[in-house]
Amino acid sequence: MEKRDYYEVLGLSKGASEAEIKKAYRSLAKKYHPDVNKEAGAEEKFKEINEAYEVLSDPQKKANYDQFGHAGMDGAFGGGAGGFSGAGFDDFSDIFGSFFGGGTSSRRQSTGPRKGNDRFMQMRIDFMDAVFGKSEEITLEVDEQCSECLGSGARSKDDIQSCSRCNGTGQIQQQSRTPFGVFMTNSICPECNGTGKQIKNKCPKCHGRGYEHKRVKLEIKIPAGIQSGQQIRVANKGERGTNGGPNGDLYIEINVNRHPNFVRDGNDIRISVPISAVDATLGCTVDVPTVYGDVELTIPAGTQHGTQFRLRGKGVKAPRGGQGDQYVEVKVEIPTKLSREEKEYYEKLKNSKTSESPFDKFKKAFKK
Ligand SMILES: [Zn+2]
Ligand SMILES: [Zn+2]
Repeated sequence: MEKRDYYEVLGLSKGASEAEIKKAYRSLAKKYHPDVNKEAGAEEKFKEINEAYEVLSDPQKKANYDQFGHAGMDGAFGGGAGGFSGAGFDDFSDIFGSFFGGGTSSRRQSTGPRKGNDRFMQMRIDFMDAVFGKSEEITLEVDEQCSECLGSGARSKDDIQSCSRCNGTGQIQQQSRTPFGVFMTNSICPECNGTGKQIKNKCPKCHGRGYEHKRVKLEIKIPAGIQSGQQIRVANKGERGTNGGPNGDLYIEINVNRHPNFVRDGNDIRISVPISAVDATLGCTVDVPTVYGDVELTIPAGTQHGTQFRLRGKGVKAPRGGQGDQYVEVKVEIPTKLSREEKEYYEKLKNSKTSESPFDKFKKAFKK
């Protein structure tokens, strides 16, 4: 089945504001939530709505989608935002709960494991590295789960106890009397910060934090054929998750430097080659530079300025198959300085009058 446009799914047009996206999502999610709507196809519709919202509510994913459409969404590479993590699906009940004032969902939100935020960085690479790919080492500060306590923050398993203040629920109920009556409100337990746990003896390595702040070296594999603006996803190197949730991901946006001669045009490469008026008139053979080395190109007699020649297969090898071509544009250069000998030849040519000049031909057309 063809994937529908995300804006269309939410009944919006491109360029809809953040508030409009949120509003449309809320009303549609309410309408199609499987707990409420038992019609056939409601669940699929609900998933579709959520998927659209997950992308359009995230500025980075939205920008990718606006630029590349669905093609920008699948896979870790290709301008893609890495597809759908599934983490968003865990959040649906939370979002849904908040519509209906559900009490259980807010508890899940505070105590459940949550994936950390994604991080974003940029990397500048050379033209040739984009064509052929390369490995680049980067140094990154990252919070990683403590290897000693595996994130629990405790010295041993026996050191993890249920919080005595909230009895392990992570929240406390408070009664408040107001002129309108008595209200019971739930709030996050201040003793355990909503985890429901207390730690007797803290892990000596991370001092109970559950994570270690590390400076790590990462080998980033830049695939051959990458283009400016595309992103590489590095799983798990984003911001730290909470309550034992995994780290977010790291996205590296690639910016490719210009080359003095080659110009990238998708998977094709363009280059301009200067030749003399004499070579253009009589024809010649030139060794044209390509990213794979020189290639001999025969320029036929009578080649005009601006003529393009194609060198098949001499473009960029696309990361998902396919091979671009190189286009060679001929620039005929008219000499501005002539030696005495050259000048004599040109004068001779001019005076020979073997054929009508282009200008005379052009002028004649006006006299008719
Ligand atoms: Zn630890
Ligand atoms: Zn507690």
